[in-house]
Amino acid sequence: MIDSGRPVDRRAFVRGLASLGAAIPLSRVSRAALGDSLLRVDEVTIIEFDDAGRRGKTRRVAKLVKSDGEWRTQLSPEAYVCTRHAGTERAFSGAYWNVHDRGVYRCVCCDNALFSSETKFDAGTGWPSFWREIAAENIIHGAASHGYTDSPVYCRRCDAHLGDLFDDGPRPTGLRYCIDSAALRFAKAP
Ligand SMILES: [Zn+2]
Repeated sequence: MIDSGRPVDRRAFVRGLASLGAAIPLSRVSRAALGDSLLRVDEVTIIEFDDAGRRGKTRRVAKLVKSDGEWRTQLSPEAYVCTRHAGTERAFSGAYWNVHDRGVYRCVCCDNALFSSETKFDAGTGWPSFWREIAAENIIHGAASHGYTDSPVYCRRCDAHLGDLFDDGPRPTGLRYCIDSAALRFAKAP
């Protein structure tokens, strides 16, 4: 039987990592050698949300792929290191750990909706923390490193590294998404 005792399906992590790993070589191959007919493999399904957190359309969109140089030009140095090279900002140094306004936290790289202020809580860590993602479709779970309970979290649209997921969060999920402010853009509810 499958072990269902954990709050998070570990198999989902494995699948998430597999899809993340597969996306990178496929996108290169399809653009370089195989032509437009195979670009559909680069599409992902995401859920749109407005800045008030209202769920919108489910959309198939092109995976956003840019060169390292393009990301470096687009992003602040902190956002570039956190999102494209799995860096971590210093605790209590980011813009959002102590923000309590209503709105939606979006990917700093591609504007994909990631977290709602409704699920933000003060974990006391100095990083913005959430007990649930805004939609399972909008993020990717990586696999935990051997011996660690945390697993990396990525943006579905652009593969930005966002932070880590832990299983010591509050009710109702028991999850704690520990996210770098630098990976986010807060869109305040109108
Ligand atoms: Zn993104």
